[in-house]
Amino acid sequence: MSRRKKRTDIFPAEKRSEIMRAVKAKDTKPEIALRKALFSKGFRYRLHVKTLPGRPDIVFPKHRAVIFVHGCFWHGHDCVRGARAPKTNAEYWRSKIARNRKRDHDAIVALQRHGWRIKISWECDLKDLPGEANKIAGWLARRQKLES
Ligand SMILES: [Zn+2]
Repeated sequence: MSRRKKRTDIFPAEKRSEIMRAVKAKDTKPEIALRKALFSKGFRYRLHVKTLPGRPDIVFPKHRAVIFVHGCFWHGHDCVRGARAPKTNAEYWRSKIARNRKRDHDAIVALQRHGWRIKISWECDLKDLPGEANKIAGWLARRQKLES
């Protein structure tokens, strides 16, 4: 029924870490494409603002809104990609992802406390880039509280 078959990890642990590090990198292609799409819609933003909790990827000071672009695996998204667990070092990855999720949660709480609106753009949402950009544009315009 599901095409999500259990697969053994074909990479040795070291190689796997290398791959995961690459996946985690900032300024990923989908993130850059999303930024460009929003820019062309007239939105202006700052990137990876260190002075804000969680160092949000895209910050719209005028709208007091931030976007986190999250990799589904790294941030434990409730989707097929997010559920994919490497067999090697399973416990290591599980606890690492749990720490990421805790950090994400803490950042959201802190940002909300300071009146910021937060949107999570998941890697899987970005497969439909124009759709996701439209959603964000609408969200920024509507000034509603929280969406993810
Ligand atoms: Zn996802």
